[in-house]
Amino acid sequence: MKNYDENYNFEKKKEKQWKKEHNEGFRCSHCKWWVVINAFMGTANRNHCNLCLWSKHVDEKKGDRKSLCQSGMKPIGLTFKQEGHGKQGELMLIHLCSICGKISINRIASDDFAEEIIVIFEESQALDERRRTELIKESIYLLGMGDKEEVFTQLFGR
Ligand SMILES: [Zn+2]
Ligand SMILES: [Zn+2]
Repeated sequence: MKNYDENYNFEKKKEKQWKKEHNEGFRCSHCKWWVVINAFMGTANRNHCNLCLWSKHVDEKKGDRKSLCQSGMKPIGLTFKQEGHGKQGELMLIHLCSICGKISINRIASDDFAEEIIVIFEESQALDERRRTELIKESIYLLGMGDKEEVFTQLFGR
């Protein structure tokens, strides 16, 4: 009997571990894709869908989960993380809340769909003046065609 219990507990533990590794995630509110959170994605705080790259307005300040807005945040362009003068930082996504207009910048995860990032980059070239002015006010540099080579290098390693 004891053996059986031990075995049972071991199986339960294994199952729990598997669930932790495979089933942790969230349903994307934009494209309905199940976004898995695991050790391979390369960022501890997954906040956007790796397929359509939409995010959700959950934070007031980074990581606090205190926002009452909870609306979808559209990826509107790319920027570089600011790492001091002359240094070109890591590629980041710019998200804009579709309801309240909050802007945030977010790290790209290793399993984010690179082709979609390119689509966002290309579409962002047509971003209207009003949005561009808002980004400038927030000191966010919107990547343009002059940054294309660096974008491809960071995404595809060439
Ligand atoms: Zn999605
Ligand atoms: Zn919002």
